[in-house]
Amino acid sequence: MTFQKFLIKYAEIAIKGKNRFLFEDALVRQIRYAVKRVDGSFCVTKEQGRIFVDCDGPYDYGELVEQLTHVFGIVGICPVVAFPECGIDELSRKVVDFVQEQCPRKDVTFKIHARRARKDYPLDTMELNRELGGVVLDAFPQMSVDVHNPDVRIFVEIREQFYLYSQIIPGPGGMPVGTNGKAMLLLSGGIDSPVAGYMVAKRGVKLDAVYFHAPPYTSERAKQKVVDLAKQVAAYTGPIYLHVVNFTDIQLYIYDQCPHDELTIIMRRYMMRIAEHLASESGCLGLITGESIGQVASQTMQSLAVTNEVCSMPVYRPLIGFDKQEIVEISEKIGTYETSILPYEDCCTIFVARHPVTKPNLQAIKRSEKKLSEKIDSLVEEAIQGAELIIV
Ligand code: ATP
Ligand code: MG
Repeated sequence: MTFQKFLIKYAEIAIKGKNRFLFEDALVRQIRYAVKRVDGSFCVTKEQGRIFVDCDGPYDYGELVEQLTHVFGIVGICPVVAFPECGIDELSRKVVDFVQEQCPRKDVTFKIHARRARKDYPLDTMELNRELGGVVLDAFPQMSVDVHNPDVRIFVEIREQFYLYSQIIPGPGGMPVGTNGKAMLLLSGGIDSPVAGYMVAKRGVKLDAVYFHAPPYTSERAKQKVVDLAKQVAAYTGPIYLHVVNFTDIQLYIYDQCPHDELTIIMRRYMMRIAEHLASESGCLGLITGESIGQVASQTMQSLAVTNEVCSMPVYRPLIGFDKQEIVEISEKIGTYETSILPYEDCCTIFVARHPVTKPNLQAIKRSEKKLSEKIDSLVEEAIQGAELIIV
């Protein structure tokens, strides 16, 4: 059976009152964006608290389902058969045909789940369950009813149109991107930051991103890797505005002026300052990093405190309590891992000291930063002005 229509289920808990239509409109917009990636012609509509995807002509089923499983806010994707309202005899025939096609094996248990959104239908939910259950048993004597743990569930929805479905393919959950403001992701080429972006976006936050590169110390390929990662994250979030900031002169100047064991931490403070500047210019409400406590010297509690000190915006660190292996598992699941492990250099790694401070002292770091005098301000200004914007 080729399905020409999908019913999209979303969790209704988050969408009480007037937020409901904002949530639904954002979900429709994100689904429209996702189906654009699939060959075929699709129409996404909202009807009476339900979202449907209609397929006009041939399309790739696997591909469509795959794209829909990327849309935050969806909890279930149900391929449905839809038909105009009809009496119980016609409905019974449709249910039997549906079971015939959907259940190749008949030695299974089943349950009918009827739902009646229109109260004018002559049979109520209980009567529909009983009547249609009986019809299926008559047609397929090998099947039996199990109301607690059935092998097959047959959903029958009585609305303006009638719908039959038995599969609920799990969606990613979360909230549609765009329902919770926007944040700036510090995106490096590593494993962690794409996962961090994914996790915050899953709560409905739209993403912008910033990448610091240091040509010629970091290559064009390293930058391309970050663009590729941004594209992979964008498959879940919709278009991402990626700011590419040339960090070379700032890094060289810090290297020149400051103690080498403090280099990473001072560099990270400048990254955060620049990221925050770009974030507030583009209407972001926070920054996102892939930091996790204790992962490296720059992520000890002391280092995080010193890095954080330059920001007045909230910095979201969704991986803060995760082990590397847990982060790797998510990156594999969301499809960024293979790109993340490509062996290109990162600007953080080229000037690192052999023994970076692991317990930086804020006052000492501030004293070191004084040595950078006004020149650093103009370098920061130049880096911000010269940032390249790539829309992925
Ligand atoms: P990742 O796996 O994401 O590269 P990491 O484990 O390598 O993280 P760090 O290099 O200390 O850790 O970076 C910590 C966080 O700082 C990253 O998760 C990312 O959010 C940000 N970051 C690091 N380098 C860059 C960069 N070149 N451009 C943008 N953000 C960066
Ligand atoms: Mg990194």
